[in-house]
Amino acid sequence: MEEAIGNPKRTNQVLKKHGLVLKKSLGQNFLTDVNILRKIVSAAELTKDKAVLEIGPGIGALTQPLAKEAGKVVALEIDQRLLPILSETLEPYPHASVIHGDVLKQDLHALFKEQFQDASEVSVVANLPYYITTPIIMRLLEEKLPLEHIVVMTQKEVAERMSAPPGGKDYGSLSIAVQYYCDTEIVTIVPRGVFVPPPNVDSAVIKLTLRGEPPVQVDDEAFFFEVVQAAFAQRRKTIYNNLGARFFSKENKKQAEIILLESGIDPSRRAETVSIPEYAVLSRNLKKYLN
Ligand code: SAM
Repeated sequence: MEEAIGNPKRTNQVLKKHGLVLKKSLGQNFLTDVNILRKIVSAAELTKDKAVLEIGPGIGALTQPLAKEAGKVVALEIDQRLLPILSETLEPYPHASVIHGDVLKQDLHALFKEQFQDASEVSVVANLPYYITTPIIMRLLEEKLPLEHIVVMTQKEVAERMSAPPGGKDYGSLSIAVQYYCDTEIVTIVPRGVFVPPPNVDSAVIKLTLRGEPPVQVDDEAFFFEVVQAAFAQRRKTIYNNLGARFFSKENKKQAEIILLESGIDPSRRAETVSIPEYAVLSRNLKKYLN
C-alpha cells in the first residue's frame, strides 16, 4: 500500500527533500493527520463515477485519498514550486492531474467543460487557503457551478458563520448566502496542532450540499442579497434604520416601517433575527415599492 503523503513523517521528508519553505502569504498550512483526511474524503461521498475539483493541493496530502475514491481529481494550485513535487507524490495516480492557476481567476465553467464532461457528479473538496476562504466559497456558489458537495476545511469561526441559524452573533450575510444555496453540516472540528506549520486558529471541516432549488422563492436574487447586505450594514442598529438609510430618503423613511410590517417583520428587530424566508418576503415587497 502507498504510504500516506499526509502523515507527519512523510510530509516532513517531502518538504526537506525539496527544500520547500512554506509561504504564509499563500495560506500554506499543510494537513498532517490521516484520520482527518479520511473524514474529509468520507464526507464527500465519492465513487468511481464521480469527480473532484481540489483547490490548493499543497504536496498532495488530500489529493491522494481523493484519488483513491474518485474517478477523476483535478487540483488547482497557485504555487508553481509545488508542481514538480506533486508530479512526484501523485505519480501512482494518473487520474489525478494538477493545473497551475489561481482559483479566483480561473475560468471555472471552462474548466468544468474540459475536465468533467464524463463525471456523474462533481464536488469541490479542499483544505482552503484561509486568506481567501469567503471569496472562494462565494465564487463557487454565485457562478452556479454544477456541484454536488463542497467539503472544505476553513477557520472554525468561518464554518460556524456559514452554518449559523438566525438569532445569534454568528448569523450574518455569509450564513444567508451559503444557506440560500446549500444545506450545511459541520463534519468535525480540527485543532491547530495537526497542521505544518500550525495556524493561529482552530479549524473545522464543513460540508455544503447544493440544493436543487433555493429554500424560498426569490424573483430577483441580486436584489434579495442587496437587501440582506443593507439590513446587516450596522449590526447594532434595527433593521428599520438600516433599510431606511439604504433605500429611503429622510422624508419617506416611514415607508420602510410600513413595508417591514407588511412583510410580518417588527421594525425594531435586528437583521440577525430575520430568517431567509422573511428576507425573501421583505425583498419582494421592497422591490414592488421601489419599482
Ligand atoms: N491541500 C493541502 C493540505 O491539505 O495539506 C494544502 C492546503 S493549504 C491550507 C492551501 C493550499 O492552497 C496551498 O497549497 C496554497 O499554495 C494553495 N493556494 C493558495 N492560494 C491559492 C489560489 N488563489 N489558487 C489556488 N491555490 C491556492
